[in-house]
Amino acid sequence: MLTIYSDKHRLQHGKAELIDGTLKPCFENPSRADMVLQEVRSRGLGPVIEPLAHGLEPVLRVHDAGYVGFLQTAWQRWTAMGRDYDALPKMWQIRRLRAAIPEHVEGQLCYYSMDCGTPLTAGTWPAITAAADVALTAIDQLEAGQRGVFALTRPPGHHAARDYCGGYCFFNNAAIAAQSLLDRGAKRVAILDVDYHHGNGTQDIFYQRDDVLFLSIHGDPATEYPFFLGFADEHGEGAGLGFNYNFPLPAASSVALWFAALETALGEVRRYAPDALVVSLGVDTFEGDPISRFSLASTDFLRLGEQIGSLGLPTAFCMEGGYAVEPIGLNAVNVLEGFSM
Ligand SMILES: [Zn+2]
Repeated sequence: MLTIYSDKHRLQHGKAELIDGTLKPCFENPSRADMVLQEVRSRGLGPVIEPLAHGLEPVLRVHDAGYVGFLQTAWQRWTAMGRDYDALPKMWQIRRLRAAIPEHVEGQLCYYSMDCGTPLTAGTWPAITAAADVALTAIDQLEAGQRGVFALTRPPGHHAARDYCGGYCFFNNAAIAAQSLLDRGAKRVAILDVDYHHGNGTQDIFYQRDDVLFLSIHGDPATEYPFFLGFADEHGEGAGLGFNYNFPLPAASSVALWFAALETALGEVRRYAPDALVVSLGVDTFEGDPISRFSLASTDFLRLGEQIGSLGLPTAFCMEGGYAVEPIGLNAVNVLEGFSM
């Protein structure tokens, strides 16, 4: 399987995120993608190529122009205020506060953020535009006839909504990939999100549409991040009603329960009969993950890949979460190898 990769992911290296009331080193850091790339190479998964530049137009197909403009200028505006450290928001536009966009960069950071675990840094913009290009180059390769392509995207994307960042995510790489497939002539695309956390951003982007089927298997938001989205009764709205499926599972669910949810999700994908599939590939469902609570073993990821492969669809995998850094490569490449069997 072909892998698309850019070294520019390293430019996003946040110093700290707020966890349990303390600033701690970011779980989401460059070593994650480095470990995955190392495993891709050592296992001989296939060629690794650089992304091609696709510009901002495909990004603006799924993200709000004001939000994209904010991300593009935020670091320069932040440091112009005399700051030389990462930007984290310190409040949110919540219930009964005005939904107006503030003028000041600090207010805009609060307006466009979901949490304070997503530091905006000097390298955020070049890293996230490179990640979008990685996802879009994977779609170029699907269009050219590849059956499966691995977009080694970092930072991840599935928590990024139309107009906010969060959960280490700024641009929603999987959503950009899915929209690009539609813009190239696909009639229907399915996105399967197997990360431990609900793909709230992807759901947000496609919630009112019937040309993208979104399915997510994740820790129950009643107890797990992102808490405010990802429940089983969220089925879509308007034209999108019936095209959104959430499979929230209790945090300590067994592997058997997880695969039962996968089987149901894959059944819905088959029923939808999409032209292509995008997989939000998080491997934080792993038993050793430091911030998640499912218990998939490394061999289970081979089985996951096989089952996705059994759909027989052109498939782009976009890397999402996975914070057990040592085995992240093993687990991710197991999915890709399982798919290719
Ligand atoms: Zn996750």
